[in-house]
Amino acid sequence: MGLADIFRGLTSLFFPSLCLHCRRSLDRGSDLLCVGCDADLPLSDSYLQPENAVTDRLAGRFPLTYGAYAYTFRDGTVCQRLIHALKYHDRPDVGVALGRRFGTYLQSAEPLRGLTGIVPVPIHRRRRRQRGYNQAEEIACGLAESLSVTVYPDALQRAAFAGSQTKRDKLQRLENVRHSFRVGRGDFRNGHLLLVDDVLTTGATIDFCAEALIAAHPGLQISVVTLAVAER
Ligand SMILES: [Zn+2]
Repeated sequence: MGLADIFRGLTSLFFPSLCLHCRRSLDRGSDLLCVGCDADLPLSDSYLQPENAVTDRLAGRFPLTYGAYAYTFRDGTVCQRLIHALKYHDRPDVGVALGRRFGTYLQSAEPLRGLTGIVPVPIHRRRRRQRGYNQAEEIACGLAESLSVTVYPDALQRAAFAGSQTKRDKLQRLENVRHSFRVGRGDFRNGHLLLVDDVLTTGATIDFCAEALIAAHPGLQISVVTLAVAER
């Protein structure tokens, strides 16, 4: 037992970890949720279904090899609590843990067998500085552990905010988002990349990322995995 383990042991003795949803103290061994709240986080079977909410929302936009999501995002649910902790309460470990967990299910997904890399949807540098991390990258790291595939966080970059977006109309804002994605480092010709994001809403962000990557890397296949899909 090293010093770090002793310290962790003492810390958990005085400050037991709490369930992220109901705030009860957690049993040793569980890291995010108590058993009861964990049961309230149903895993979607989308990873077994060739057609699901992810493939539906991205249909007709770009050639998608495989799409899946772990949970449905609804107000007041355990899923919403976890995503909020990940995005707004300095809990990057939530992304890693849930990515790792979903990755164990994706191990059986036949279309992901030839995966050559995992690419998180990038966030603006300013937002990354505020948050301290990119939540999509944390999920990607968890997935990468389970799937034994490398994460390429610099394969896509996101340009800085171009002033206030509030006065522009919706279409113009969407165009700005489209042009904010730039291809970064790496040669992924004839490869197969897994694009990863926290929540899929309209699919526009993923679409722009995929289009940028496909345009830059001939013969590239794209698959998409998100932690959650927002209910419409
Ligand atoms: Zn709980």
